[in-house]
Amino acid sequence: MKTMSCKELGGPCDSKVSANTWHEMVQKMTKHVITNHPATAKEMEKMHNKDPKKWGKIYKPKWDAAPEIE
Ligand SMILES: [Zn+2]
Repeated sequence: MKTMSCKELGGPCDSKVSANTWHEMVQKMTKHVITNHPATAKEMEKMHNKDPKKWGKIYKPKWDAAPEIE
């Protein structure tokens, strides 16, 4: 299990998002952003439409670097 903040994942708040896999993190973060930050969700959608791999390229290394916690 790893925990990252919304901010570390490109969002505007300090909410923590925990997940066991990167895939799960992406799903939780996407849901969090759509629910809490509609404007950010739009920005991320634009980024995704331009280059679907860009978000992962930026934030996956941060996930990899985050410490594993129980
Ligand atoms: Zn947030």
